[in-house]
Amino acid sequence: MIDLRSDTVTRPSEAMLDAMMRAETGDDVYGEDPTVNKLEAYAADLFGKEAALLGISGTQTNLLALLSHCQRGHEYIVGHDAHAYKYEGGGAAVLGGIQPCPIPFSEKGELPLEQIERNIKPDDIHFAITKLVCLENTQSGKVLSLDYLNKYSKLAMKYNLLRHLDGARVFNAAVSLDIPVSHISEHFDSVSICLSKGLGCPAGSLLVGDADFIKNARRWRKMIGGGMRQAGVIAAAGQYALINNINKLSQDHNNTKKLHDAFSGFSTLSLEGSSETNMIFLSPEIDLSAFAKFLLTKGIKISGSRWVLHQDISTNDIDQIISACKEYDIYPI
Ligand SMILES: *Cc1c(COP(=O)(O)O)cnc(C)c1O
Repeated sequence: MIDLRSDTVTRPSEAMLDAMMRAETGDDVYGEDPTVNKLEAYAADLFGKEAALLGISGTQTNLLALLSHCQRGHEYIVGHDAHAYKYEGGGAAVLGGIQPCPIPFSEKGELPLEQIERNIKPDDIHFAITKLVCLENTQSGKVLSLDYLNKYSKLAMKYNLLRHLDGARVFNAAVSLDIPVSHISEHFDSVSICLSKGLGCPAGSLLVGDADFIKNARRWRKMIGGGMRQAGVIAAAGQYALINNINKLSQDHNNTKKLHDAFSGFSTLSLEGSSETNMIFLSPEIDLSAFAKFLLTKGIKISGSRWVLHQDISTNDIDQIISACKEYDIYPI
């Protein structure tokens, strides 16, 4: 089965499983798991931050960031369609009394600076205290430019606002720009990173930031039941991925481009938006349920209009997807 639903469907490779199997472990709640400690130190270094924390999911590390940066009665500015607002069960509000202030993303996946500025509340007892601005990179597969990040960062600092990045796919952004990921993370106080998406781990996310912030996040992690014991088996997968799988993302991007370009030769099937990293979006005119049913007969699984490429989809698979699309394009059901 070729699974285009998400890059979360990747399975750990033999080599990754081998690293997990051989992981040296200890009780991480006591701070005694050497593999976790090594991964956290490695990640902090990679992102140019003082410290890092291993979490179980991106939802968890985003929540830990908000709980650690903000207090009850604080507010964070965030995208309307941002994962950290829309797809995380309202965790920051439920557990932290932290109010979201959602504003629309632009076509480029940015929060427009003038919109951010307009939504920063003045010091007035009527308002929640604006504390943080959260970006997402990549945002629906789109890469935020360094020029934008620079301006965003300056604006946030001008108003004394904290800067959090939901960097679930930040390595896709770094690989696409061909820069070290620290050139992105330097514009943020904290970054959350998913190990379980394009990097191919079975579970795990990282949170990076300064030492006090991570200390605080570690307490919150324990409180919400996220203190894991011999977590070295998960950390070993993460360590393997950070060493071996970041560069592989460019193959996913090449495959995405190949698939994207093939659509320009079709007559009824088309795409919308750009395809900068590992995602394409089908145009809304396509009858998705009929198309999905057809693709399933060709061994291709989709859900909705977003197709996500990942390391378990080979260049041969791309050819197979293209030929299935070609067939459907000529004889749609
Ligand atoms: C997947 C994702 C997350 C975290 O998801 P989990 O499934 O909880 O790991 C956060 N932000 C974005 C943008 C994502 O795509």
